[in-house]
Amino acid sequence: MKNILSVDGHCDTVLKAFETGTSIIKDSGKTHITLSSLSRMVPHIQFMALFCDRFNSREHFHGLWDLLDFFYMNLSSCENSPVVIIDRVSLDECIREKRLGIILAVEGAYLLEDNLHRLDMLYKLGIRCLSLTWNPGNKLCGGIGDSDSRGLGSQGARLVKKMNRLGMLIDLSHISERGFWDIIELTDRPVIASHSNCLSLCNNKRNLDDRQIKAVADKNGVIGVNFVPDFLGREREGISTVVDHIEHIVQLGGPGCAGLGSDFDGTEDLPEGITGIECFYEIYEELLKRGYSEEDAAKVMGGNMLRVIEDVIGQCR
Ligand SMILES: [Zn+2]
Repeated sequence: MKNILSVDGHCDTVLKAFETGTSIIKDSGKTHITLSSLSRMVPHIQFMALFCDRFNSREHFHGLWDLLDFFYMNLSSCENSPVVIIDRVSLDECIREKRLGIILAVEGAYLLEDNLHRLDMLYKLGIRCLSLTWNPGNKLCGGIGDSDSRGLGSQGARLVKKMNRLGMLIDLSHISERGFWDIIELTDRPVIASHSNCLSLCNNKRNLDDRQIKAVADKNGVIGVNFVPDFLGREREGISTVVDHIEHIVQLGGPGCAGLGSDFDGTEDLPEGITGIECFYEIYEELLKRGYSEEDAAKVMGGNMLRVIEDVIGQCR
């Protein structure tokens, strides 16, 4: 797979490193991935989510601030100088110079509940991807963990339109089913589900049903297959189960809508055969073994995500 671009749509490494008192730069054994291990994968683009489990606007704002500060502090002392992708210029730079690319994402927009103008601040700080909720819903949208079936609120609808305008990627992982359909109807840009699997292969409410998978494909979007065993199913062998989910997505939406969203450092529990980013090589090999052309396998590994990044973030100036 050498020289084939890979893109990982989701990891929680920033929070994991922050909480365990290590850095995101060098391998310490405390995180699944680091900027060092990712640098060995180039060309590679890594979405790095900023997640903090504080679900009110004020606390979330402060929690997120700590993580952003921590991220940029780490980045400034990183020798490999990864590129934070914020627009066409930085995206081109990352690809041309074969440097590690990072897309900063916020998982759960609790800080925006009462303050939509804070989206401009997030944008200026380099955030280019956002999910409206984590499992608990908020005033913007219902979450997958809610007991009711609330969808997108009026503030959430304004947020979606504003993200479309700015060129920020909307991430549908974790939001309620109704919220999912509301956003599909409203957005005029491609969307991603950065780390979600197939409900028909593994019955977990975090996974997407077949209609939802088709809807993401129809929007020219991508679904990043998640490596967490609870979302993969009972089968413990990691690589082949990940590829089963990829195949199901491809069967429903074509080879243009499947991608990868590891969820590294968002779980303690990785399936057998998956320990870090190097497993991407094995996923690629497994796709070829199952009869995928090199072209289609390369799309799944990163080409599809790159297309959406170009479509949405590539329009930023
Ligand atoms: Zn998540």
